[in-house]
This record gives sequence, structure tokens and C-alpha cells, in this order.
Amino acid sequence: MSNPRSLDPEDQTGPLTGEDQLMAEEDIKRRHAEADMEVQIVEAVRTGSGPVQPVRLTASGKFNFRCHKGASCWNECCHNTDITLTPYDILRLAKRFETRPATIISTLTVPAEHEGSGMPVLKLKMMDEEKRPCVFLDEEKGCTVYADRPAACRYYPLGLASVKMKGHEAPDDFYFLVKEPHCKGHEEEHEQTVAQFRAEQGVDPYDEHNRGWIDILMKLASWKTVGGPMGKAPTTQTKQMFFMVSSDIDRFRRFVFDTRFLQAYEVSPESIEAIKTDDEALLRLGFDWLKQVLFNEPTLALREEVLQGAIAKARAAIGGT
Ligand code: SF4
Ligand code: SF4
Repeated sequence: MSNPRSLDPEDQTGPLTGEDQLMAEEDIKRRHAEADMEVQIVEAVRTGSGPVQPVRLTASGKFNFRCHKGASCWNECCHNTDITLTPYDILRLAKRFETRPATIISTLTVPAEHEGSGMPVLKLKMMDEEKRPCVFLDEEKGCTVYADRPAACRYYPLGLASVKMKGHEAPDDFYFLVKEPHCKGHEEEHEQTVAQFRAEQGVDPYDEHNRGWIDILMKLASWKTVGGPMGKAPTTQTKQMFFMVSSDIDRFRRFVFDTRFLQAYEVSPESIEAIKTDDEALLRLGFDWLKQVLFNEPTLALREEVLQGAIAKARAAIGGT
């Protein structure tokens, strides 16, 4: 899909106005600043209190670990722990409880700020008891949502990190071992590769559905360092848009169907049909929309008439023809 409104002068089909030129220069400056940056976003990390020893691993890297009910530390890691919920975590939990994400948000989460990007996110609630157990923990049976447990719980004791290196377009993912003193699983003689552990824990659909979200967080983290377009910090509106798509999918659905969204963007009839009921498809559209609006990426095309109208309006505003 081509980008209808790239700010790169080489992408323009018509002559540039003075305003276009200024915006293009600012956009190129921003892109260069981002390309020079090394941005690291750490996701799917669950840690409690106490020091962590990070050990960097690749997919073929091996580590010793086994978690089982007979371990002396059984359930220790499900107390006073810090779990950021990803968009797909919220959808899975909502499905499990046969409810909608808004109910999960209001009953099982607490609001927080994502450390790397400053964006609003949700964390899993811990009970207001002495040891602060996770809201889903049954001390006898263990995790009561095991089949739908969040990505960070699946990954533990691994952390997932994305790093965008200087000069690289796409981020690289890597893993690291989180060694907390209370976790005795590291003392077990069960060796496995990261790839085997990931397969066993069923993280693939989580990574697949959360990829767009992580990409957006990485870009926003670079904004936090160098400033957004033209050096400005992300606005309240940016934060609201991000939260709506990543956490409150029904509000985003209303936004798509009850506003001029579908008149403004080219969305295929098949996709429109799908997003009426398919939350995961709507999530993908939401990430494409955020990338288009926030970073001018060619992920979602504006309809030609809307584009031409916007250009004419901009030209009229600066006295052009
Ligand atoms: S969701 Fe389950 S695995 Fe994760 S912290 Fe809570 S009880 Fe433990
Ligand atoms: S071995 Fe580690 S992951 Fe398993 S219950 Fe103990 S603290 Fe939790």
C-alpha cells in the first residue's frame, strides 16, 4: 500500500508548498535522529522484589530451569509482581471470562505508565493482602487462568527485549534470563533452549498479536529521548489514542464505526466485516492506524478525496492556489 501523504519530498506527486517543504525538512531531521538512536524496549518481563541477574540469550541459547508444584518456592513468583498487560493479554482474559475488555480493565488491572515510552498501560492487580498475591492466584492450585496467563507469566524466567541498533531499520529481539533469589527453578537440572521453552509456554500468538504494539512503544520511546515530530513531547491526545487501541478495543470499535473513520481511510469491505466482531483484526487495524497517524508510516491509506481535500485546505491556509 502506498503512503498517500509521505512528507518525504521525493514521494510527492505535486509541487511542494512552503509549508510542505518545512514539514518535510523537519520529518527528515526526525528520521535521521531516530536512525542514529539505539532504542531498547523491554517487554514481557515479570519481576518481584529483589535483585535480578540478567543474562543475554539468543533463541538457541541454553539454560537450566524447571518449574513444578513440588518446588519449595511454589507460587512465590505470583506475589507482589509487576506485570504489564499487553493488548493480546487483555483480549485473552476477556475471552476466558466471557466478558469485554472494559470489565477486565475495571476489575483486574491498575493504571500505570510504560517506563520506556511514558504511554499509559495497565498492570495486573495484586491483592491488598500482606504478601500481595496476584488476583488470579489460588495458593493451593496455583494460577487459575493458566491457559490464558499473560505473556510476561509465560516468558518467566525469561525476559523479551527489542533493540533498535544504530543504522538498523527493524528492531532485533533477544531474550535474557531473570534470576531472582527466591526462584529455585534455576537449580533444577533440566536444560533447554530458549526456542524449546518458548514453544512449551505457547508464546507465539502473544508475540504475533503484540508485535505492532511493541513497534509503536519503541518509536514512542525514541520520541521520549529526542522529542516527537518537531521536538514536541507526545500529546495527551497521542496517549489517549494509544490507550484506546491497546487497552479498550470496544471504544476503538465505536470510534471506527461511529465517526468518519471509514470515510477517511481505505479499509477493504472484507476487513470492515471482520472488525465488526473480530477483536484481533481490529487490533491490527488499530496498530496500522496509530503508525500512520503518529509516524506517517504507509500502513493505512487515506482515501483520495480526503487527501486532496486536506491538501487544498492546507494550500488555501497559506495563500496558495
Ligand atoms: S496470572 Fe497466573 S502466573 Fe501470572 S502472576 Fe498471576 S497467578 Fe501467577
Ligand atoms: S520455580 Fe520459579 S517460576 Fe516456578 S514457582 Fe518457583 S519461583 Fe515461580
